[in-house]
Amino acid sequence: MSEYEVVVIGGGAAGLSGALMLARSRRRVLVIDAGQPRNAPADGVHGLLGREGIPPLELVARGRDEVRGYGGEIVGGEVTGARRDGDGFAVELAGGDHVRARRLLVTTGLSDELPDVPGLRERWGRDLVHCPYCHGWEVRDEPIGVLATGPASVHHALLFRQLTGDLMFFQHRQPDLGDEPAEQLAARGVTVVTGEVAGIEVTGDAISGVRLASGSLIPRRVIAVATRMVARAGFLAELGLKPVPHPSGMGEHIPADRPHRGPGRLGGRQRDRPVGAGRLGRGGRRTRRRADQLRPRGGGDAARGRRPLALTHANARRSFPCGKRIPAICTGGFP
Ligand SMILES: Cc1cc2nc3c(=O)[nH]c(=O)nc-3n(C[C@H](O)[C@H](O)[C@H](O)COP(=O)(O)OP(=O)(O)OC[C@H]3O[C@@H](n4cnc5c(N)ncnc54)[C@H](O)[C@@H]3O)c2cc1C
Repeated sequence: MSEYEVVVIGGGAAGLSGALMLARSRRRVLVIDAGQPRNAPADGVHGLLGREGIPPLELVARGRDEVRGYGGEIVGGEVTGARRDGDGFAVELAGGDHVRARRLLVTTGLSDELPDVPGLRERWGRDLVHCPYCHGWEVRDEPIGVLATGPASVHHALLFRQLTGDLMFFQHRQPDLGDEPAEQLAARGVTVVTGEVAGIEVTGDAISGVRLASGSLIPRRVIAVATRMVARAGFLAELGLKPVPHPSGMGEHIPADRPHRGPGRLGGRQRDRPVGAGRLGRGGRRTRRRADQLRPRGGGDAARGRRPLALTHANARRSFPCGKRIPAICTGGFP
């Protein structure tokens, strides 16, 4: 069985970033990637300084070249299981191959679950959008409909209102909004449409309207919806890591050690940092080490009675619809 210092499971932007730094730190790294980044349906990646508009798969291809340029290895495949194996981990791939790792970096991202409305899935990432920052500019000034999926949808609508003057809020199956949210929408000139949505109408290859259960058709060119975001982490079950509902109600995440800096505070950019840059020390104090400072140490965390697999806190309390703060990113707190 091949052995690596770190096996990175999931080779999207997060996993490749982690692998790049590990490879540059002269770690023996393998990235295993199933090749389905979350943003694959989109034409381009936006808000990415220096690479604005780059097609998602091109970004990944460039990242792979960069990792390989420092000696990192990358294989295509799906990890189906991971278990403890002595002081490291055994990782199983679909097809039965195994590799061994001293540490795992899990960067498999998340799946977007759409509301059960006919016609939505086919438009995902095109004229069915979720994030005002990822593709809001591309749909500016269009007639946009926000399809409500929960209480946070009002906030979602207010964000999209900055991008168009023609916004409708489809209440769908959500209960009464309450006075304050209704006033907020009214103050911004957002029309609230009550009644269940029965489907999305498409003309040619573009959304043309929203069909209500009552039969009415409301013309719209773009639909915005907040998805339910679920960590892709089924293969971690044998390690005792199972997705649970996120407190925000926005999906499922792997609960993580919370790196406090003070009461009620999250650890700044910690959540975006895939390399093992932070973990909880013995007294709950966060320790930070750069990848190039990490050296093998006898005994490891298990011998000190700590959790052998520390999870970085990848879940912000306030997540934006793009869900960038939800994916489960875990590091082993390197040896
Ligand atoms: C339609 C859409 C458009 C978006 N546009 C933007 C944008 O313009 N700008 C922006 O900043 N963000 C955007 N986002 C958000 C962005 O896609 C995510 O923040 C980003 O992809 C997260 O990167 P990641 O590496 O965590 O996960 P991903 O990119 O999803 O990569 C995870 C990788 O892990 C692999 N994987 C999963 N399970 C396994 C397994 N068991 N074994 C092996 N491999 C596995 C997957 O196949 C995938 O390749 C968009 C999201 C969507 C849905």
